[in-house]
Amino acid sequence: MSEASTVQDAQSEKAEAQASRPAVPKDAAAVVLVREGAGGPEVFWARRGAALAFQPGFYAFPGGQRDEADAEVEVENGAERESATMLACAARELFEELGVLAARGAESLTKGQLASVLDDLTSGRMTFAALLKHYGLKLDARDFTFAGRWVTPPFSPRRFDTHFFVVRCPRKQEPRLLTAEFDEGGWERASEAYERWRRFELMAAPPVIHAVRTVAGGLGEDLTERFLSVPQASREQVRRIEFLPGFVCVPLRTPTKPPATTTNCYVVGTRDFVVFDPGSPYEDEQQVLAEFVRELLDAGRRFREVILTHHHPDHVGGVESLRGQFGGLKVAAHRLTAEALEGRVRVDRFIEDGDVISLEGDPSIRLRAMHTPGHTRGHLSFYDERAGALLTGDNIVGVGSVLIDPEEGSVRDYLASLERYRQLPRLVALFGGHGPAVGSPRAKVDEYVGHRLKREREILSAVRAGAATPEEVVARAYTDVHPKMHALAARAVVAHLLKLEEDGLVRRDAVGRFTADA
Ligand SMILES: [Zn+2]
Repeated sequence: MSEASTVQDAQSEKAEAQASRPAVPKDAAAVVLVREGAGGPEVFWARRGAALAFQPGFYAFPGGQRDEADAEVEVENGAERESATMLACAARELFEELGVLAARGAESLTKGQLASVLDDLTSGRMTFAALLKHYGLKLDARDFTFAGRWVTPPFSPRRFDTHFFVVRCPRKQEPRLLTAEFDEGGWERASEAYERWRRFELMAAPPVIHAVRTVAGGLGEDLTERFLSVPQASREQVRRIEFLPGFVCVPLRTPTKPPATTTNCYVVGTRDFVVFDPGSPYEDEQQVLAEFVRELLDAGRRFREVILTHHHPDHVGGVESLRGQFGGLKVAAHRLTAEALEGRVRVDRFIEDGDVISLEGDPSIRLRAMHTPGHTRGHLSFYDERAGALLTGDNIVGVGSVLIDPEEGSVRDYLASLERYRQLPRLVALFGGHGPAVGSPRAKVDEYVGHRLKREREILSAVRAGAATPEEVVARAYTDVHPKMHALAARAVVAHLLKLEEDGLVRRDAVGRFTADA
């Protein structure tokens, strides 16, 4: 082996190790903009655009990543430099995204002056620090109530360590959505915002739901204390993510396929509950889940059963451990999944397409099973129409991509399964087997269909251009994929070639080489 290739191997191994480690959280700040309304405190929040990489379709507050220049901003009555910098970041983001300048002295600016100050900032003519100085404006820490620091869980490909601040909207200033980041939003009574989430009308991440709930409780002296009443508001890892009422995602560390590092276990139900895909083979992670289940049982809730979306090891690795800890536990899955698991995991009950799992509670949850093969033959998805919630298993995931392996998968079945998702009447959120939930379900399903069809076209044109084996197709069509992943890509190509062959678009000769008419 030449030295060059050793270096290359070491480098790609390093890249792989990095790829399978959670992303490092970046410093960010967000503003919970509030005002007193006739019916109680109001918050200004908005829905994030469907095309965004981070939390598409989620309701959120203005905010964003820290800028290098934020450290130059002077903050009156501030604590140490670090928190002053994050406060400056929050003030800048609030100004850029909603046009609200929470600075002392801003009250003497006319609307026109305020607009030209904003233009100075967004055009890049001046940094935030420079323009504050130039116009004689001052940020004052007393205008920014610290409301906790939340860290995005490790299952997300993008992570932030976000400082939250509550800011009372300055008099005479009216927030409006100025960036493409948000597609709709506005002032809403905080209690109504929370109720709308409870009614499955929108999706938001835990710190946002915690914020609207806290603000709904009043803007009194104890506001910070109430914001900090949960340990996750002081950077403790969020282990239970309730994206919608009764749909709790518990990401557990598993030996899964990079860039994912965890598999999502879902605990669904508000009184009766089921556990989907307890996949971690690691004892410490199994304990995290068992502890959660025990808390629910202690609260009088009823553990109905474990349900498996499919048989892959990173989705079933913790089933027997859970069964060992909770006697009499039953496991349900599709018949084909049960067959694939024979001798490894016992399946007690089969679930067929159209079966309904009704979970009593407030709200009650009614999950309809859908047999959605493609990733595996026995793959199941679960849909609750009232909640607009779809558990997609590994058919659609919040991080990485879906592998269609010809041995147990089928591109044709997969596309048909995605088409069934498309036909569902109401969709608020997709809950996939890996990564964060998706709040822009229709755009995501379309993106997946589009991606598959694009791959198919690329593969067909590679064959037309003379690529005759899966490896040759990969070399031509998968230039965007890391060489370490080429063996996997070749398997995906085989799955596509089989479909193209069935479609009569490619032919295979006696020695297995593919050709196609130009
Ligand atoms: Zn899988």
